[in-house]
Amino acid sequence: MPTFQTVRGMRDLLDQEAQALTGIISKARETALLYGYREVITPVVESFELLNAKAGEEIRKRMFIFKDLGDRNVALRPEFTASIARITTTALKNEPKPLRLFSAGSVYRYDEPQRGRFREFWQSNFELIGSNRPEADAEILLLTDSFLKSLGLRGFAFKLGHMGVLRGILGEEDMDEKTQNAIFQRMDKKEYQEAFKLAPTERCRRVLEGLLQLRSDDCFETVEKIKCYVAGNERARVAVENLDDILKLVVANGCPVKVVEPGFARGLEYYTGMIFEVYTPELDIALGGGGRYDKLIELFGGEPTPAVGCAHGIDRVALALQAQENKVGDEREKRVLVFAVNDALKVEALKIAQSLRQSGVIVEFEVMGRRMAKALEDADKRRVDYAVIVGERELKEDAVMLRNLAKREQNVVPVKELAEKINS
Ligand code: AMP
Repeated sequence: MPTFQTVRGMRDLLDQEAQALTGIISKARETALLYGYREVITPVVESFELLNAKAGEEIRKRMFIFKDLGDRNVALRPEFTASIARITTTALKNEPKPLRLFSAGSVYRYDEPQRGRFREFWQSNFELIGSNRPEADAEILLLTDSFLKSLGLRGFAFKLGHMGVLRGILGEEDMDEKTQNAIFQRMDKKEYQEAFKLAPTERCRRVLEGLLQLRSDDCFETVEKIKCYVAGNERARVAVENLDDILKLVVANGCPVKVVEPGFARGLEYYTGMIFEVYTPELDIALGGGGRYDKLIELFGGEPTPAVGCAHGIDRVALALQAQENKVGDEREKRVLVFAVNDALKVEALKIAQSLRQSGVIVEFEVMGRRMAKALEDADKRRVDYAVIVGERELKEDAVMLRNLAKREQNVVPVKELAEKINS
């Protein structure tokens, strides 16, 4: 038989890697609870039409698409937002707004594998549905900040932009949405010259080019510059005022916004307002991002409903924490091996193991039928803390031998006191 490897871009996550991933997801879940978000679990496989509706060319090209045995066109989800928009317009249709929804799970994109870029990766996803107010945008930024801080991540910073400014400028030229999206996609990849080539008029090209020059080190100063620059364009003016309002709310609450980038666009087509990404110095790719999408729910057959959301790349957060030597998920509880000296004591030994587990002690029961010396040696190698040795003589006194494997010391301990002794 050949030995099998994982498919390119897919990974097995073992030990510390698996613990880091689940540890980070637990923190995201705690953040969701603190901010009042309900958890929803949606399928990994969705209809291709749903996922294709508004994903953006970049993601569309990278979806895992196939026909199921019932001849349906389906795909593996490349993100959560389309699924969330679907339940908002179906199962949660009559729920009062705002809806606050949290999901965590794997998503799939046929990206070129490299550091921090995988074909199966994990996201925590937050959506706040039903509010068009800047406090809602601020909430998404602040919960991202809280989540990363709760992990002990240092030095991360936000980059903000606003699709309304760009759409306001391009809209003046009566540009159709498809061309607008093609321009945003190139800007998202920083292919500015390619983007400018798509501008329908020389004036439009100059306006876009000028906009990119407005960046400054101070985010409020950049906003003021954009305000002056777009003064005559009502849609862009409203957008930049909105960005200013959001910025004031989050900066006053400790959110580290490093730059406002006037030419910042995101690859997903559904964004209509504030957009953001969050970075750390250890990685040159984003840890997370999101923004406002006020038209998406309507597109999926719902009432016009404003919404804002974000997704965090769990694998990249894990990489950043690892680079900072921060061991999330590595908190070790005490572990115990329960060993019966002979077969006749197995029932009693198992009873002791079960009662220890009920008291919250992590117990491995000897299942290999090994001799004691071998079993203890192996447990010690695997950093098990104690062996509970169930022998006839001690058991007659309702006691067992408790052996500290690292110290190589052992004492007779009454079964009743065992859990307390181990945890002390
Ligand atoms: P997006 O849905 O494109 O806004 O992505 C949200 C976050 O998911 C990004 O900021 C990344 O942290 C993460 N992400 C996106 N693509 C990948 C990938 N191929 N591998 C690992 N993480 C990714």
